[in-house]
Amino acid sequence: MKEAGAAVSIERLRSRIASLGRIGAIGATSASRPAMSALDAQARETVRSWMEEAGMKARVDAFGNLIGRMEGMEDGPVLMLGSHIDTQPNAGLYDGVAGVVGAIEAVQLLRDSGEPPQGPVEVAVFSDEEGCRFDKGLFGSRGLAGRLEEGELDRTDAQGVTRREALLTFGGDPGRFAEDACSPGAVKAYLELHIEQGPVLESLNASCGLVTGISGPLWWTVELRGFAGHAGSVPMAMRRDALAGAAAVIAGLQELLRGEEGSPAVGTVGSLHVYPNSRNVIPERVRFTVDLRDMDMSRRGRLERRLRLLIADKAADNGLEWDLVVDTDSEPRYCDPDLMAAVREAAAEAGLPLPELMSGPFHDALAMSHVCPYAMIFIRSRDGISHNPLEYSSPEDIAAGTELLARTLMRLAARPPYGEGGRRDGNRQAEKL
Ligand SMILES: [Zn+2]
Repeated sequence: MKEAGAAVSIERLRSRIASLGRIGAIGATSASRPAMSALDAQARETVRSWMEEAGMKARVDAFGNLIGRMEGMEDGPVLMLGSHIDTQPNAGLYDGVAGVVGAIEAVQLLRDSGEPPQGPVEVAVFSDEEGCRFDKGLFGSRGLAGRLEEGELDRTDAQGVTRREALLTFGGDPGRFAEDACSPGAVKAYLELHIEQGPVLESLNASCGLVTGISGPLWWTVELRGFAGHAGSVPMAMRRDALAGAAAVIAGLQELLRGEEGSPAVGTVGSLHVYPNSRNVIPERVRFTVDLRDMDMSRRGRLERRLRLLIADKAADNGLEWDLVVDTDSEPRYCDPDLMAAVREAAAEAGLPLPELMSGPFHDALAMSHVCPYAMIFIRSRDGISHNPLEYSSPEDIAAGTELLARTLMRLAARPPYGEGGRRDGNRQAEKL
């Protein structure tokens, strides 16, 4: 095996990220490329030319995913790398893009090594990962994984354009969904390189990290109900102030999650509605959301019980009634132990420290985890900032992540496509090798 590290071209990575940044640019450090828009299509054509340069044959599937393919010595299950290039409005230049550019670079290095892969290798640029245009993300990866839901094509954007119309203009084809969705076993492994979008790697002074899994969020809507009254006349001891109760719950949640029992789980109250929301009326009703995420489901269960007790306590203290609706309760999706071991070996070979961390945000890997084993490599984000023009990862860090991806790819590509026998993936998917 040739030295992948020596061959990663920082300059090529940097110039390609800059090229995509100019498509839909808003100033020097920001771009907006709404999913399945003309700008997204233009960016996709640019990426297609890079895929071809790296020796891949590119196609667009029924879900609007751009997929580059390098054939292997034999046919068989695909080794897939991927990420996305659509953006949030006024986004930074690295979310998704670093992973796509890094994946193409990794395939280029595999090709330059002169050792053809044993089985086929593909790079997927998934359509509509961000989900902001039609208010539901991971479209392309969920499509490929056979996980689209009823009515998805009828969702409309702010201009009244349906997803079906946008997809057809973008080269997709709803008539071929069943044909293009991949069956379990068709993808042997999925690897995704992505910026962290959080501050953990920076705090550990590491350029890259190995993801242990994507945490499943628990989402609640909580309502506290008291009694409205004149802010000037009702004595404090006689009030049933719903906002005072909510404030106590929020403070208690912070204390719990920041304490030993909570870490490294994260909890957030991100939305609060106060009724009637007037300066001289005691708040009668407050509705707020809770977002709780953890990789460890037994800890998450304990925290969930503690939070329910906390709400009951603070409601009682303030004379409030309460109820709680569970909006979402998803399980974490764990990275595959065997693929994680391959990334660790690649890091040891490259002499790179590789701390491990969970992913709070969703990625295309989440959808892919339902059809194949997966692993993810994170690249350090400056100040942990993302979805913002201040988002930044250094070319050196992106090159380090790309080197890890390339070395991992080369290890996996040297294995026969049907495997060396019984391998289990972290999510206990039945996998035929
Ligand atoms: Zn992303």
